[in-house]
Amino acid sequence: MNINKVVVIGSGTMGSGIAAHLCNANIPVVLLDLKTEIAEKAKEKILKSRPPLLFDKSKINSLKTGNIDHDFENVSDADWIIEAVVERIDIKHQIYDKIFKKRKKNSIISSNTSTIPLKILSKKLSSSDKKDFCITHFFNPVRYMGLLEIVREESNDKNKIDLLKNFCESKLGKGVILCGDTPGFLGNRVGVYAMQIAMTESIKMNLSIEEADAVFGRPMGIPKTGVFALYDLIGIDLMSDVLKSFKKELSDKDEFQKVTKNIPIIEKLIETGYTGRKGKGGFYRINKSDGKKVLEALDINKNKYFPAKKIDLKIKKINLLELINRDDKYGKYAWSVISKIILYSSSLVPQITKEYNDIDEALRLGFNWSMGPFEMLESIGLDNFFSRVGDIGSNPFLQNLKNKTINKFYDERQKYTNIETLAKIKKKVIKVDKNDSAEIFRFKDFNIVEFNTKANTLDYDSMDALMNATDKPLIIINESMQFSAGVNLNYVMEFIQKKDLKSVEKFIKYFQATCKHLKYCKNPVISAPSGLALGGGEEVLLQSNYVVSHTNIVMGLVETIVGLVPAGGGCKELLWRWTQTDQGKKDPDFAPLKVFDIIGYAKTASSPNEAKPLLFLDSNHEVIINRNNLLPSARNFIKDNKDLIPPISCKFNLSGKLVRDKMKTILEELYNNKKILDHGMEVGKELAYVLSGGDTDIKKEISEDQMYQLELDSFMKLLETEKTQKRIKHTLTTGKPLIN
Ligand code: NAD
Repeated sequence: MNINKVVVIGSGTMGSGIAAHLCNANIPVVLLDLKTEIAEKAKEKILKSRPPLLFDKSKINSLKTGNIDHDFENVSDADWIIEAVVERIDIKHQIYDKIFKKRKKNSIISSNTSTIPLKILSKKLSSSDKKDFCITHFFNPVRYMGLLEIVREESNDKNKIDLLKNFCESKLGKGVILCGDTPGFLGNRVGVYAMQIAMTESIKMNLSIEEADAVFGRPMGIPKTGVFALYDLIGIDLMSDVLKSFKKELSDKDEFQKVTKNIPIIEKLIETGYTGRKGKGGFYRINKSDGKKVLEALDINKNKYFPAKKIDLKIKKINLLELINRDDKYGKYAWSVISKIILYSSSLVPQITKEYNDIDEALRLGFNWSMGPFEMLESIGLDNFFSRVGDIGSNPFLQNLKNKTINKFYDERQKYTNIETLAKIKKKVIKVDKNDSAEIFRFKDFNIVEFNTKANTLDYDSMDALMNATDKPLIIINESMQFSAGVNLNYVMEFIQKKDLKSVEKFIKYFQATCKHLKYCKNPVISAPSGLALGGGEEVLLQSNYVVSHTNIVMGLVETIVGLVPAGGGCKELLWRWTQTDQGKKDPDFAPLKVFDIIGYAKTASSPNEAKPLLFLDSNHEVIINRNNLLPSARNFIKDNKDLIPPISCKFNLSGKLVRDKMKTILEELYNNKKILDHGMEVGKELAYVLSGGDTDIKKEISEDQMYQLELDSFMKLLETEKTQKRIKHTLTTGKPLIN
């Protein structure tokens, strides 16, 4: 049996997200709601969603909308019917009654419930219908969240569950974890517990919400939304409902019950419409003061908002042991939270799952933690943990570890899949070299470079690793969220503050030399990005021989935002690609003007589908929906291209001042219409200088090295200006662009 048609019932947040993602996979899907207008509105919302739920807008053509009265016929030839209506058992039961009367034999029916047990959902079904019914618990936003929990029972047809797992893994790209029918399954059971612990402990210890989020966040390998900002994002009212359900479903003895108690401030926020980002605000809110937007944080004791404080724990890299050993309130808070999360998660093995690894993966895929609780335990060290934690009670999992008197217990990651992922092969690789920014591994007949800075920003060391790893075919890939957010601006800023621009120049030259080397070295270089590939990150992609791209990427040359031009070969390479198009060959000004538009506006693509028309990706690429498959696909490329011939070097004939004048006209219009200000004009002029070939004319041939030099000169010229330095500082402190 194949899944060729899907019906989704309920077009709210989850139903529309699931339907959109099925469209991404080119699966025909019918989205039904009480009224067709509701489903139509959901369709419009999908098209306008930010970040986009669709790989590109044309994907929506796989979607039809309708209502459950007139269009229910669609159920009769659907292979999979997904119920995603409101969390009310009476409504869900009515829907199942209708579905099972209409559905074709052998079809699969699933619910997206997050809190209702499978046995209650399937209570009224016949035993043969029960075989085909399970829970498929997607996470929001569906396109971006890796986790899908499939909850099944003994009564299920095992082959069908396998088929569904396979389909969701290969066609929808999900990390599929099979779960038993226990409250909150795996992800929410531990994830929501962790959030509650983080919240209640911070209140007990009298930490401000900014302080709590600063600890229960990046330093612990948890997204920076921490706990309070995450509450705002999910919805404070929704979280309150989730907690009520845990309270009802879990036994009185469950440790979780201790953190399900009502918290007065939460009740007050909900009552007054402060339900989070969708409401008037929540623990944080944006307030307008003197015409400016100010982020404010709630002081829980005073029940008043104050401008949010930036808390800097001065932590560069995640180091849990260092964090919990800090001799300050942050260290105490971190230990209290981490130890409780570890104690609780381990108490659930083997009751809710025999595989502790699945709990970790559920947290990594469903909550974007970089480590799950068991990896946290490993990272702290069993000795350190046991010596500090005291009584572990009747916790067979920990007891067993304690009795073994070992210090390491963790085997490999990602046991839920058979795919040979980067995480899995890391157990078998030879560690060739490591510096502060990257690591080189060797596996069989190829090398891997993995960046490991914050957001994988690039510096001298990152380039060094790339430069030194091409003695074998090279795959550039990483496990963390981002491929690379670009050059490390903090690193550049440090040199600026020391007035040492010579060192920046040296770095840019090395960046260029590295990218050139990647492009022409005798062994193939394959980049396998997921997440951000911006600025310098995109320049590495542009100069790799082949790109295996995940569907969830953001690509672009965005240097102009911080008052710079791409100088690692980005201008040159994109220009070359555009000169090779039919129009580029006919008209020498076509490519420079096109690239001026793309880089000038810092255009980005939020999927490979959008990256292709901008030529951020050329024909040498493939697209992968399941991130776990990036490495196997890159390996296949190496296997099939043993004798890959490096590209021929590019040469340009550009019209210099002639095309630059056209660019100037564009800039003047933007300036007159106040779309850009003084420095925007300066940056635009420098970009125009590079892309027009500088002081040249159409008859002169410009080499690749000359283009690199033009990029470097303009980059350095701009970097010296006060206004570019102001832009960089502003972006580093606020994360936002400065228009000057
Ligand atoms: P929602 O409130 O956004 O949407 C529910 C939709 O169901 C609405 O469009 C409503 O009109 C429709 N509906 C109600 N009764 C219906 C009926 N009889 N027939 C057809 N449509 C009907 O809800 P949601 O957040 O999308 O949640 C849907 C399900 O997914 C729930 O079971 C929820 O627990 C679960 N879930 C939600 C999230 C989340 O983050 N929101 C995450 C995972 C799972």
